[in-house]
Amino acid sequence: MAIPTPRKTSTSRDLKSKKETTAQSAATKELKKQLLKEYKNAWDLNPADEHDFAFAFAEEYMAFLDQARTEREFVTLSVETLENMGFEPLQSKAKLVPGDKVYKNIRNKGLAIAVIGRQPAVTGFNLIGAHIDAPRIDLKANPVYEDGDLVYFKTHYYGGIKKYQWTAIPLSLHGVVHRADGSLLTISIGDRADEPVLTITDLLPHLGSEQMSKKATEVIRGEDLNVLISGIPFSDTETGGRFKLGLLNLLKEKYDLTEADLVTAELEIVPAFPARDVGLDRSMIGAYAHDDRSCSFPALVALTSVDRLEQTGVTFLFDKEEIGSEGNTGAKSKVYEHFIYELYAKQEDQPNQLDFYRLLENSRMLSGDVTNAFDPTFASVSDPRNNAYMGRGINYMKFGGSRGKAGTSDANSEFYASIINLMEENKIAWQTGELGKVDAGGGGTIAGYMANLGIEVIDCGVPVLSMHSPFEIISKIDLYHTFLAYKVFFQKMAR
Ligand SMILES: [Zn+2]
Repeated sequence: MAIPTPRKTSTSRDLKSKKETTAQSAATKELKKQLLKEYKNAWDLNPADEHDFAFAFAEEYMAFLDQARTEREFVTLSVETLENMGFEPLQSKAKLVPGDKVYKNIRNKGLAIAVIGRQPAVTGFNLIGAHIDAPRIDLKANPVYEDGDLVYFKTHYYGGIKKYQWTAIPLSLHGVVHRADGSLLTISIGDRADEPVLTITDLLPHLGSEQMSKKATEVIRGEDLNVLISGIPFSDTETGGRFKLGLLNLLKEKYDLTEADLVTAELEIVPAFPARDVGLDRSMIGAYAHDDRSCSFPALVALTSVDRLEQTGVTFLFDKEEIGSEGNTGAKSKVYEHFIYELYAKQEDQPNQLDFYRLLENSRMLSGDVTNAFDPTFASVSDPRNNAYMGRGINYMKFGGSRGKAGTSDANSEFYASIINLMEENKIAWQTGELGKVDAGGGGTIAGYMANLGIEVIDCGVPVLSMHSPFEIISKIDLYHTFLAYKVFFQKMAR
């Protein structure tokens, strides 16, 4: 006979301890809520109808990306939009008053936009800066050559790319050619379904054993990035160079171009595929140049969707960030400082240098740039406690740089805290992460060049997977919260 197990009956003492445990766990939960910082996923945060707004904003963004393939096209499209919305060229205005909306086209490759606020200029401006150039492949000055009965373009890549990623994919050609007679030809070939594309060939695996044993940096070298451009020879000659002549003849007939015109041209090769929804839930966007158009597009839209600002709002869309912000269209150029001065001087009867310096020191800036999203497949390069994650909102980065923060501007705690308060008050999903582990690499942004003027600056933007590849990935909710963050910064950031 088995020994019967006693029946468990609850006693008043059991009930009491159960109550105590529940009370305890509620208290612990509350304490945790108060003391710990938890970065929530933004899809969970706000009511579900926010998802619809996020998806709608993503659609606008994707349509813009498909039209603005290069920094020049970004500027052209933005100027068109700005003029439709009543913005005027800054040089056309002798005086500025609150509510005025102006812009300056920086040599067709950068853009400065402003909405004049009600507060005196000397109290400082609210600025957002982001870049509109992206890694790509540029043509060399003497690009055309023929080999093996085919014609190619010689190229020189622009920005930090993994060169092997740019082979065996459809590519398009964009840019401008100034012909010898002074006329301008704007080129955009390969993005519409009925247009031909270009490509860079790769080696077949059957013959690739030597190539495959090389380091990834050498699998495809810079001088191997030759773009396949044509293959029909000029019929009327049997001498060498018939294939090149065939192409030049076509360029002449179709575009009235000669080889000499190509020397001074700016022609860029970019991926030819459009932006696409990624994931069965369509929660992400795959596209070329999220770096940094997922920040520059929200920066543009944020400023054009606000009225009646207290502090003057400015959006800078910079060129040349990917190669160090050089040149007279990059963030190092004085032209952007001159724009701020012009905004100031046109609001004052007697502008003076000292007040202008005070304006700069009283100004605040969000440097909109993307960061790396945590990628579980490549987790070893990240500190998982200090990395941005897909879906957790806009990422703030106090400092970047490399080898012991070298090259970073390192935002001041006072300013950073005021921005985070703004995010919290307005229920904007934010997170913070560095670009990878300490000493794993690093990266730079435009923040330092603006901070050099005395402006308070912090980097913030959208986390990206597969950054600098032809098909980068972002989350739609991060894009939307970046837009919300930029808009609220213009509307509410005060000294
Ligand atoms: Zn970049």
